[in-house]
Amino acid sequence: MRAPVSSGNRPSAFQPACSVIQSTWIPWRARAIAWLLAWMITATMFTAVAEQNYTVRRGDTLYGIARKHGITAARLAARNGLSKNYYVRIGQRLVIPEGPGDASTQLPFFVQRAIDRAEVKAGRWKHIVIHHSGVDTGTVKGMDRYHREERHMENGLAYHFVIGNGHGMGDGEIGVGSRWTRQLDGGHVASASQNKVCLGICLVGNFDRHEPTPRQLAQLKALVQALFRRCGLSASAVKTHQQINVLFTRCPGQHFPTKRFLASLESAEPRRTASKP
Ligand SMILES: [Zn+2]
Repeated sequence: MRAPVSSGNRPSAFQPACSVIQSTWIPWRARAIAWLLAWMITATMFTAVAEQNYTVRRGDTLYGIARKHGITAARLAARNGLSKNYYVRIGQRLVIPEGPGDASTQLPFFVQRAIDRAEVKAGRWKHIVIHHSGVDTGTVKGMDRYHREERHMENGLAYHFVIGNGHGMGDGEIGVGSRWTRQLDGGHVASASQNKVCLGICLVGNFDRHEPTPRQLAQLKALVQALFRRCGLSASAVKTHQQINVLFTRCPGQHFPTKRFLASLESAEPRRTASKP
C-alpha cells in the first residue's frame, strides 16, 4: 500500500534540520568535512550492495573459492587483505567482490568471435530465452545427440548456446551451437512462430533443486550482453522459458534467480544495429 503524499505542512523532522544548515554560519572547513563524510558513507553503502560474504569450508582453497565466484584469486586476496601465500583457514569469513572490471564478465575469445562472425540479419531475433537442462550433468554433444535421435530434430541441439556447470562441461563454459553459427530457428519453445524469433540459451543443471553456479550466471550475463550488441536487443528481450510458455513449463526452475538476473541486465546499453561485422 502506498503512503499518502502530504500536501501542505512539510514533515517537521526534515525541514528544521535543513534550515539550520542554511541559516547558521559554519566554517568552510567544517562544511567540507561534512560533505566528505556524507560522500564516503554513500560510497560505502553502494559498494556493500554488490558484495557478499563467504565462510571458508574444509577443502576450500582461495583459488577454488575465486573460481566458484567467477573472479581471480588475486582480486579476492586483495579485497580481503590476504598475504602472498593466499592461505585461508576453515571458518574464515571472506568478502567476495563483485562489479565492473570483473574477469568473469568477459567472454572467451572464441565465443565472441562466433557471435561476431554469424550473419545476423537486422530484426532477426526478438527474444533471448533462458532454459535449464533439468539434469545436473550435460554436454553440447550429449544434448545434440538427444535432440537429433530421441526428439527427431534434424538440426540437432535445440538451443543456440549451452552453459556448463562443471559436470560434463566446465563451470561457466559456453558451447556455441550450430543453430547460432548458421542462424537457424531454435527448437526450444512451444511453437514454430516463437522458434523463428527466439534465441535459446540452456544452462546445465536442475534449478528446481538448486541455483545455477555463480560462474554460470556471470557467463550468462556476459553472453546475453554480447547478444544485445550483436542483435540490437535490450534487457526487455530476455525471458525465461516459463515467461514465454506460461502454461507448459516451469523451466528454468524455481531456484533460477529470475528477478535478480533480469535486474542485473538493466544497465546494459543496446546498440541499434545488426549487420555484418
Ligand atoms: Zn526450457
